[in-house]
Amino acid sequence: MEVKIICSQKRKKTVSARMVKDKMLVYAPDGIPAVHLERIIQNFKRRFKQQRLKKELNTKEDLAVIAQRLNERYFKGKLEIAAIEYITDQYKKFGCCNYKSKVIRISHRLLEMPPWVRDYVVFHEMAHIIEPNHSRAFWKIVSRYRLAERARGYLMAKGFERTREHLDRLWI
Ligand SMILES: [Zn+2]
Repeated sequence: MEVKIICSQKRKKTVSARMVKDKMLVYAPDGIPAVHLERIIQNFKRRFKQQRLKKELNTKEDLAVIAQRLNERYFKGKLEIAAIEYITDQYKKFGCCNYKSKVIRISHRLLEMPPWVRDYVVFHEMAHIIEPNHSRAFWKIVSRYRLAERARGYLMAKGFERTREHLDRLWI
């Protein structure tokens, strides 16, 4: 990624950046220490890369299609989902669901896993629209997914899930 730094006396403290095609323009105050600026630029780079990946994934991999397929198969197409998208800045969770806004977010790390594991995570988050907590009723819904046990076993073997308590903390 090409970086162009534009220093300005007018700027007092903040550094900002924007992407113009493949070039990152960084606006910095005059006299900012180089080490400090370098760190900020690295952060911007990471953020822009994540944003670009997110955009790419959400155009290529259509999560809405996957969710719709699961919706029809397991919920008679009645489950309301406002939006579902990949996120690229989440490393602690595989997915999350805001049951009030009905928005589901899925970690891009699931792309490295078999599709039926990714589908399990999508299904898991969809179930949260009905049951926000990891209640007995929630797990009952999840168990309807044909490969639920196998998918959980897969995630467990990967070291992501050890116990249900651990799992509860991973997912939200
Ligand atoms: Zn959950």
